[in-house]
Amino acid sequence: GHNNLNAKLVLLGDMGAGKSSVVLRFVKGQFLEFQESTIGAAFFSQTLAVNDATVKFEIWDTAGQERYHSLAPMYYRGAAAAIIVYDITTQESFSRAKKWVQELQKQGNPNMVMALAGNKADLEEKRVVLAEEARTYAEENGLFFMETSAKTAKNVNEIFYEIAKKLPRA
Ligand code: GDP
Ligand code: MG
Repeated sequence: GHNNLNAKLVLLGDMGAGKSSVVLRFVKGQFLEFQESTIGAAFFSQTLAVNDATVKFEIWDTAGQERYHSLAPMYYRGAAAAIIVYDITTQESFSRAKKWVQELQKQGNPNMVMALAGNKADLEEKRVVLAEEARTYAEENGLFFMETSAKTAKNVNEIFYEIAKKLPRA
């Protein structure tokens, strides 16, 4: 029916930030301490009911390594939504996230719903990226921001739910 929506979603971000773990938590409700690193990209799908609509997410979980960078446009082109993931315990992953945001702003779908996820929020004692800094950056760049933890499940369903709510309805 007209309340059913398919939405291509891509996860981008530094290797090790927790992209695959966020997807695994969302799709299967699981977490692995030793999540295998992604080669190329992996595909998942998951359906969410939001208000009166059903959103079927078609999720591309990318690898994140620089040597796969040239493949990224295949995954973000035509995507309705992106989650850019960084690890709150590394400044490098936050810098990398900002680079992805810039690239999406230049090359991506202009109506793309973009979320910035500060992952590993359970590692508060190792935090180096302040939530306030990330929130300000997100506000200035038209993304919405949440800190997530694939380990504890904090804000994982919520970030997908927020995206689903923001998707333009046909
Ligand atoms: P990816 O390269 O971005 O896909 O990152 P992975 O999902 O493979 O995760 C890299 C490592 O970080 C793995 O050892 C995960 O178990 C760990 N990890 C991922 N998310 C979290 C989290 O929210 N909290 C903690 N403590 N570790 C996490
Ligand atoms: Mg991965």
